[in-house]
Amino acid sequence: MTKSFEEIPLTPISDTPSTVNITGLWRVMRPVVDREKCKKCTICWKFCPDVSIKLVDGVPEIDYQYCKGCGICATECPSKCIVMVKEGEQ
Ligand code: SF4
Ligand code: SF4
Repeated sequence: MTKSFEEIPLTPISDTPSTVNITGLWRVMRPVVDREKCKKCTICWKFCPDVSIKLVDGVPEIDYQYCKGCGICATECPSKCIVMVKEGEQ
């Protein structure tokens, strides 16, 4: 049965939109795309939970302001052309 919002227990929620929360500050690992190896399949773009990947001519560009370094894009890339590197390293 569907509950009304008054019946749902209190949960912590943000009162600001994601565009205000710079989630990139959370990042420990950073995805780096090998543009030469990319097959332009768009799978990384579809899987990114933070909508931090934009496609430019089919090739992903990471928005590091919002990418929180979860690594899903690197895991899902079938061509293994996204690697996670420690923040602060090349
Ligand atoms: S590491 Fe996570 S948040 Fe960052 S671009 Fe990849 S899937 Fe998106
Ligand atoms: S999943 Fe890999 S091959 Fe596909 S677009 Fe993304 S980086 Fe390129």
